[in-house]
Amino acid sequence: MTSQTFVAPLASRVAVVTGASSGIGEATAEHLASLGAKVAVLARREDRLAELVSRIKKDGGTALAIAADVRDDEAVRAAAHQVKTDLGGADLLFNNAGVMLPAPIEELATDQWQHQIDLNITGLMNAIGAFVPQLVEAAAERGVGDLVNTSSITAQNLFPNFAVYSGTKAYVTHLSRHLRMELGPKNVRVSAIEPGIVGTELQSHVTDPGARDWLAGSKEMMEWLTAKDIAHTVGFLASQPARVNLQQVTIMPTGQTS
Ligand code: NDP
Repeated sequence: MTSQTFVAPLASRVAVVTGASSGIGEATAEHLASLGAKVAVLARREDRLAELVSRIKKDGGTALAIAADVRDDEAVRAAAHQVKTDLGGADLLFNNAGVMLPAPIEELATDQWQHQIDLNITGLMNAIGAFVPQLVEAAAERGVGDLVNTSSITAQNLFPNFAVYSGTKAYVTHLSRHLRMELGPKNVRVSAIEPGIVGTELQSHVTDPGARDWLAGSKEMMEWLTAKDIAHTVGFLASQPARVNLQQVTIMPTGQTS
């Protein structure tokens, strides 16, 4: 029997994960680190980031915590500067921080509309503005970079009372397709991940009683995805040969039909 050496598929890669203090971002940061990437983890809750970094380091990985609000352009640019200085620059951005606050439009929950637009669109754009130059530079030097944006099945399908959230995610998917046109020729792959329901903290922020009931009912009806399911999908697409770009990945709970 011959002994086989595990070659980490993302060794030499530097990944930045936004929204890394819980849910999909946290699981993805841990998974990318297990595949050999150095990871910089961004979110607002410093304590959660510190725990994540110490878990990754305990498993032999390299991780850097940066507490930042992605709605703050200056803070995100400072984070990009730190990633460049400490880790040599990013070649993978998992642009994932987001919030979902469904409610009937006639409730006029304008603060929640604004919160979703500020985080899911402006925050996403701040990270793109800060890190795309590093992705392009890395791709020119090493032949590959990845911009992976977290969208949602709501970008495609219709869900009553999810209009504003769905609108922000339709923006993410359509933006991603356009950016692929610009960045693909520069060896930066652009992907939009569109999950159905994933059990995370996302649902706990919902305040509208009707939406809360709908979510609770759906949990009874089907087995939701886990954050690890999405993490493995991100790891899979980043591990493909440089010529392969999974443009749009829709990942659903088997029991979720729309
Ligand atoms: P979580 O609520 O568990 O994670 C959201 C993350 O975003 C947290 O780490 C949070 O950290 C971070 N975040 C929130 N506000 C800010 C901010 N202003 N600046 C920086 N980071 C911030 O939810 P998920 O893991 O489910 O969500 C991740 C992404 O997946 C979102 O874009 C969501 O829309 C999308 N998605 C989720 C689905 C689901 O069913 N769960 C389905 C489809 C898409 P902190 O509070 O510490 O800042």
